[in-house]
Amino acid sequence: MNWYKKSQFVQDDLQNINTPNIIVQPYEPLIQEVVEEIRVKNANFFQGVNQINIDTGFGQFGSVESINPADININLNKIKSEVINQLNGNFDENNPEHRQVLKNKIEEVIVHEKRHVQDASEAQEKSDKPLQGQDLFPGGEAVAEQAVEQYFN
Ligand SMILES: [Zn+2]
Repeated sequence: MNWYKKSQFVQDDLQNINTPNIIVQPYEPLIQEVVEEIRVKNANFFQGVNQINIDTGFGQFGSVESINPADININLNKIKSEVINQLNGNFDENNPEHRQVLKNKIEEVIVHEKRHVQDASEAQEKSDKPLQGQDLFPGGEAVAEQAVEQYFN
């Protein structure tokens, strides 16, 4: 009952938020869950973000590309293997504590990548010609790392 009430509240709350839904594609429930939790904490967090793409490769934890600077790419496999390492190979997705460790890492990657999206949109706003490549991300890794530090402190 409590759970139901709580989830009702969250639903109503989200309906009053004037920001678009963030599409996670392909649909990945764990990442969608993290997205909704971030939105409850900060309604405007995803302003300027178009969508979240799940990348199943094994490259970086996440990325924002200059060709589509409003999209956040998340590499779930890479994040999972990092968390499995962190837990010394002893990872069980049905264990709530393990799930939370995984969700925290996903949240960290989203916060990091979202700062790159913001960097690109601010840089583009200030420029009268279309920016490409590194010019879109003048803040580099420093601003993204700083955003993660501020978010979790
Ligand atoms: Zn980065």
